[in-house]
Amino acid sequence: MHRKGDRTAWLKGGRATCIAPGPFPKRPWYLVLLGPPGVGKGTQADKLVETYGACHLSTGEIFRAACRNPCEAADSPVMRAALDAMARGELVSDEIVIEIIRERIRCLHCMHGFLLDGFPRTVEQARVLDQLLEQVGTRLDAVILLDAPEEVIIQRLSGRRVCRQCKASWHVQYKPTRVDGICDNCGGELFLRDDDRPESVKVRLDAYRNTIGPVIDHYRDSGVLHVVDASGSPEQVFANIRAVLEAEGRPWEKTLDEAAARQAPPA
Ligand code: AMP
Repeated sequence: MHRKGDRTAWLKGGRATCIAPGPFPKRPWYLVLLGPPGVGKGTQADKLVETYGACHLSTGEIFRAACRNPCEAADSPVMRAALDAMARGELVSDEIVIEIIRERIRCLHCMHGFLLDGFPRTVEQARVLDQLLEQVGTRLDAVILLDAPEEVIIQRLSGRRVCRQCKASWHVQYKPTRVDGICDNCGGELFLRDDDRPESVKVRLDAYRNTIGPVIDHYRDSGVLHVVDASGSPEQVFANIRAVLEAEGRPWEKTLDEAAARQAPPA
C-alpha cells in the first residue's frame, strides 16, 4: 500500500513490501518536489498526498528511519557514512543515494503514483532518475520548485520541533503545541533535529545552493519545471501548487495527444 503511513517498501527497501494495497487512483501522479531545506516541502507533501493520492517518497526519511532502527539497514558502513554526513548537515554521496533509489525501483512505477521529496538533489541524481523512470516506463508529470527568501527559511527551520514518538512536526512560533516541548498528538517529547541546529542549517543551505542550480536547469529544459512561491501560509502555498498542476496538467500527455493527432488519418 502506498498510502501515507505505510511505505514499507520505500523506507526499508530490498524485498520489503507495503501491506494491503488500497484502490489505485485512476491516473497516478508522478511528481518531484524541490526546494531548500525548511521551505515547507514536508507540509506540502502531506497535502499533495491527501489530494492527489501519490505516495510520499522522501530520501531524508529513509535515513531517519535507519537512524531509529540501527539494528537493520543502518548497521552497514555505507549507511553509517550516510548518517554521519546527514548529522553534519552535508549531502550524502550520490553513489549511496543512487544505490538506495535503485533498491527501491519498484516504488517508481507504483500505480499509486509518487511524490519524490528530497531527491534528486544533484544533476547526477536527476540523470539517474530519468534513466530509471525510462526503464520502468514512467514519466514525470511535474517538478515543483518551492521558492522562499532565506530569512523565511531560517526562521522556519530553527523553530521546528519533532516528536520523538510519533514524528509529528511542530513549530515554536507557527504551529505551537499546547504544552511547551510536549506533542499534542501523543504526549511524546519534542526535540530539535540535529540537522536543524543553526550550524547544520547553514551547511545544508550552502549544500542546496551549490548543487541545485543544474538540477533546476535540467528540469526547465525538460519542460516539467514549475516555480511556486512558498513564502505564504501552508494553505496559500498549496493553492499555488494546485493552480499550477491544474492549469498546466501533464505536458507529456499533451505531447502524446499531439503526436496521436498528427498520426490520425485526415477526416
Ligand atoms: P531532508 O529531510 O530531505 O532535508 O534530508 C535530510 C538529510 O538527508 C539531508 O540533509 C542529507 O544529509 C540527506 N539526504 C536526503 N536526501 C538526499 C539526497 N537526495 N542526496 C544527498 N543527501 C540526501
